[in-house]
Amino acid sequence: MTEYEYQGGCLCGNIRFIAKGLPNNPHTCSCTMCQKHSGALTLCWVEFPKDSVQWVGKGGVPSLYRSSDYSSRAFCSHCGSSLGAIDEGPTIGLILGNFDHHESKELIPMSHSYPLSPTEI
Ligand SMILES: [Zn+2]
Ligand SMILES: [Zn+2]
Repeated sequence: MTEYEYQGGCLCGNIRFIAKGLPNNPHTCSCTMCQKHSGALTLCWVEFPKDSVQWVGKGGVPSLYRSSDYSSRAFCSHCGSSLGAIDEGPTIGLILGNFDHHESKELIPMSHSYPLSPTEI
């Protein structure tokens, strides 16, 4: 059986993570919240159970901004990189651009949420 393990972190390296296990729901999203969170029109996401993600950088856990009733957006308070979404539930969404290696086939987005409006493309 393949052991899945991914490492990544923010632009300055203060926040680092290790995520273990098969990622769930690889997808892209162009909702307004993702756009404002990142400054990009579209984000690539993968999800892991909370207890599969360890924050291992010297900055510890990322800073959080409460973005909705069920989720907070995670970011590095030093460099400002967007890192993911930490839900009230058992799931953490990580942004694929922060991964050191994101070319594995199980990370390829399989669906898209909130298509861009024609005025944005
Ligand atoms: Zn940083
Ligand atoms: Zn979104």
